[in-house]
Amino acid sequence: MPRRPIAIVGAGPAGSLAAWHLSRAGARVLLFDHSHPREKPCGGGLTGRAVALASAAFDPAVVPAVPMAAARFATGGFSSSRAAEVPVDSSGDAPLLVASRRAFDLALLEAACKAGAEHVPEQVRDVQVSAEGVTVRTAQGDWQADWVVGADGANSLVRRRVLAPFRRDQLSLAVGAYAHGTTSRTVLVHTVAAPPGYIWSFPRPDHLAIGICAPAAGETPARLREVLDRWLAATLPAGLHLERYSWPIPSLPYGDFSDAVPSGSRWMLAGDAAGLVDPLTREGIYFALESGRLAAEALLGPGDPASTYAESVRRSIYPELARAAALKARFFSSEFACLLVDGLARSRAVRAVMVDLIAGRQPYRTLRRRLAATLEVRLAWELAKLQVRGMIGG
Ligand SMILES: Cc1cc2nc3c(=O)[nH]c(=O)nc-3n(C[C@H](O)[C@H](O)[C@H](O)COP(=O)(O)OP(=O)(O)OC[C@H]3O[C@@H](n4cnc5c(N)ncnc54)[C@H](O)[C@@H]3O)c2cc1C
Repeated sequence: MPRRPIAIVGAGPAGSLAAWHLSRAGARVLLFDHSHPREKPCGGGLTGRAVALASAAFDPAVVPAVPMAAARFATGGFSSSRAAEVPVDSSGDAPLLVASRRAFDLALLEAACKAGAEHVPEQVRDVQVSAEGVTVRTAQGDWQADWVVGADGANSLVRRRVLAPFRRDQLSLAVGAYAHGTTSRTVLVHTVAAPPGYIWSFPRPDHLAIGICAPAAGETPARLREVLDRWLAATLPAGLHLERYSWPIPSLPYGDFSDAVPSGSRWMLAGDAAGLVDPLTREGIYFALESGRLAAEALLGPGDPASTYAESVRRSIYPELARAAALKARFFSSEFACLLVDGLARSRAVRAVMVDLIAGRQPYRTLRRRLAATLEVRLAWELAKLQVRGMIGG
């Protein structure tokens, strides 16, 4: 176990869960984050696998959340869309819980502190990594550490110091709004062909978290806002109070996963800082939690932590994200979106596949085979074509 403290920059899901695992095992942890309590720009959709990882540290039931009761998938024009309703069997666990990130992230940070992590409520201004150790600089002075875990999100300072910032083609852009004064139990997803992405409305206990995401290359927040506003006008009652934001989401292209580097001597990147977001759905909370857990496991275990962590991430996270990236390029085309929505409207078995995808229970690895088994053969075939084209960049 390292002699000096481990510095973790960023107390989002990745940093706080890493801090919880490390502190619980007796390691000294400095967890830097100036922002709490705060609302992180996000849908707040928590899949079952994300909830399971967080529940190691605290009881997620303490965080107010809306269990998804149904999802409505739509595509095409906003006022004349083609749509399918996917109800959720109420006898099992909800596939998705939607919570405020203010509440979820604070509960995780408090759990880390309770386990012994020292929260340093300061913004990190610089990080220097050398063979001897790590220096973390804040306005209050310098802090020495053995290792640094960069869990500081999509605009990661640690990433910029040890590696390089994300290129524009490695990012999605999200433009969103919290709509106060209304809520629901139905998740809305509306795919958009141009720009290729989707609009979502996730119901939280006292508001809706709404947004649109699309590849950042060639896109502007103003253009996305225009599309979102047209959808809002067609979908929600007028007069709601909208709190707006825009924020980047790492969405790595397929080819980047073969040589991505998540760690090096005395440093590791976790969560968004490492680019660990599903490039298709943009689910990131689960991958942040899982990479935080893997970073802690590597730092606590035998052998070189950097190599152990890199191997774990390459084995258990990159392959699934690469499969999603291969699908992304054409998934939002009108042709495929119509096929999908029609399949959902027609087939109970396709609806079950979709519920499992939302819940994080259906890996991309077996998606085509499972869709073929629903007898929606054309959907499975088109999906296979999308994947092959995405992999060869065609
Ligand atoms: C609009 C939008 C909607 C999304 N919806 C979903 C969703 O519904 N479900 C889902 O699973 N994922 C969603 N995601 C992705 C998800 O939000 C992220 O993948 C997830 O938050 C990553 O967690 P993290 O711990 O890596 O980083 P973050 O949650 O970004 O946390 C990073 C922390 O680092 C701190 N920090 C940054 N710089 C410094 C510094 N210099 N010094 C100290 N602290 C610093 C920040 O204050 C922050 O608290 C969405 C993303 C966006 C943008």
